[in-house]
Parts: sequence; structure tokens; C-alpha cells
Amino acid sequence: MTGRLDPTRTGAPDPGSAGRAGPAADVGRWFSTGAQTASVGAPDSPNAPSPNAPRTHARDHPWGPADPSLYGRLSTPEEVLGALDVLRGGPVTVLTGAGLSTESGLPDYRGPRAVPRTPMTYQEFVRSDLSRRRYWARSTVGWTQFGAARPNRGHRLLAALAAPLEIRGVITQNVDRLHEEAGSNPVVDLHGRLDVVRCLDCDATVSRDSLHSRLLGMNPDIAARLEDLARDAAQAPDGDAEVDRTSRFRYPPCALCGGMLKPDVVFFGESARREMVADAFALLERSRALLVLGSSLTVMSGLRFARQALADGKPVVIVNDGPTRADDRATVRVHGRVGDVLGAWALELGVRDHPGRHRSR
Ligand SMILES: [Zn+2]
Repeated sequence: MTGRLDPTRTGAPDPGSAGRAGPAADVGRWFSTGAQTASVGAPDSPNAPSPNAPRTHARDHPWGPADPSLYGRLSTPEEVLGALDVLRGGPVTVLTGAGLSTESGLPDYRGPRAVPRTPMTYQEFVRSDLSRRRYWARSTVGWTQFGAARPNRGHRLLAALAAPLEIRGVITQNVDRLHEEAGSNPVVDLHGRLDVVRCLDCDATVSRDSLHSRLLGMNPDIAARLEDLARDAAQAPDGDAEVDRTSRFRYPPCALCGGMLKPDVVFFGESARREMVADAFALLERSRALLVLGSSLTVMSGLRFARQALADGKPVVIVNDGPTRADDRATVRVHGRVGDVLGAWALELGVRDHPGRHRSR
């Protein structure tokens, strides 16, 4: 370790993320349906309001902008390496959140640059044809951009640190599959994956890419104006974009049974899949420590792993830019960008950045 984390790098685009200048607009709000607000209303969430009520945790709102003064704080190099000492001797389970993917150009739901938005609930989606038209229209406009996201140095470094840190596995609240693409293994996609669509009736799955082609074919007027619509939606992230008014957007039923297709991600008002939760707890059980990266632990879905680890007497190291819901209980709290901190650890351990696996599509 040669010096202090360089604050000028904060916010700089990662060279591996297609050279974007910052987080992309959440075209389609497809993300907001799942990752950050999942498990609100879940049975294991004692403080959860009813699924129909907007969550208004006084201290930590799950989406929308936060106080900018709470961000950008940096731990000292001694603190950063001190955290590494706690993790040494593994095995370690890692829990990641949206903060890991912002450098890949994907939006976060908190932080100073977040845009207030109202996620579509599971109930709205399944009960209303109009809601589904709106969802598929928006997410069709956003899919090209989302699908172009690539792992950033945080994902690559985490994959490269798997051996020296004896990482048992990664539990992620993200739905972008960028950990898998960077080479982490195993990964538990706690909130599902956006590149897969599942039939709610027969449980069959289809790739989002193939559904995307189908949606474009069924909606040639949208297909012809994808770029304009994306720009329009980006300028009006929480409604009133032209794409919102496409009540005539057409979407297909399941090709096998005629049932209802839904992206295979956990929506607001929906619980994480039982087997995912079981896999995640199994990882934690086989580990000596928990490392939390880029998550504010706002929702119980993630927070419960930190609580479980602490209840079992295991150290919990949290690396995040901005406050988290377990700050007062963490064994070590590191402030800074995930990529910077992992970079410092990799340097200390003599690990080089990981090139990542080649993406097939
Ligand atoms: Zn079906």
C-alpha cells in the first residue's frame, strides 16, 4: 500500500465500462422493480409496511436522493488495510449491492445522484394489463443500454481476490449478472436476474434477448424510435415520458402455456425466492466472516445476513460510499468506492486486476 486512496478517482468512469461518463438514466425503471426494494413486506421483515404503502423509513429511504454530505468520505489507508486483516484467514462470504454496479453505468437507487421514482409493485404488474404494457414498453426501451453494461474493476478485482481471501461465494442484490461475467463463482442472485423471463404459470423460462426481439417485432413503431424514446425517458425518469403513454404496447404470453411472463427478478412487494435465500444462508454458514460491498443494507433482504453473521459472532466488514443500516454494528466500516478499496487490498496481496471472462453475446 503506497498511499491514500485517491479521492480524484471518485466518480471517474471505469475504463472497462464502455467509457460512460456516469450512471445511466434508469430508462424503464426496470431496476426499481426489484433490486433495491425487494423483500419489503416479506415475512422476515418485521418493520415492513404493507406492500401497498410506500416505504418511508425515517432514517433511510430505500430509493431517491440522499443527503450529499453523507457521501464521498474516505477511510485512511490504515483503516482500509485493517479491514483486510480482519478478513485474512477466510473463508469469507461477500454480499454486494448496487454500489458495485454504478461504475458499470447502471443506476443506484440511493446516493446524491439518485432520482426519486416509484417502483412498480408485483401486485400492480400481475393485476393490471395496462401496468404490464407500461412495464414492457419501458423495459424494452431500456434493455439495449442495460444489456451493454460490462463488469467494472470492482467486479474484476473481487473475482481476482477469490483465492487469496478464500471467498466461499458472492450473494448479490444486483440483477445484472456482472459478477458471473467477471468470473466470480458461485454467485447467488438473491433478487433474480434481468436477462431471464419466467412464466408465472408453468415456470418455463426464456431469455430476455429473445423476448426483446419478439417485443420489437410486435411493436414496430417502438422499434423504429428506440433511441428517441430512450432519450425522452431519460429526461423524465419518473413518468410522463412518451414511452409511458404507450398503452397500446403489445407483449406476448408464454409460448408454452399462454400464461403470464414476468422478468425473473424480485419486484417490490415480492419476496426473494426461497431457494436463493437458503443458498445464501448456506454460504454464510460455511464462512468465518461477512464482507459487504456497495450496499446500504436498506432492505431486510440484505440486512438479515449482516445480522445473522453478527449473531453468530462472525466479523462483518462493510465497504460502502455513504451510510448503511448496519454502520453501528459493523466490526469494521470502510468508507470509499468499492473499486478503490478492493484495489488497495489487491495491491497489498499482490493480486493483479482480473481481465474477466469474455461475454458471449
Ligand atoms: Zn407458461
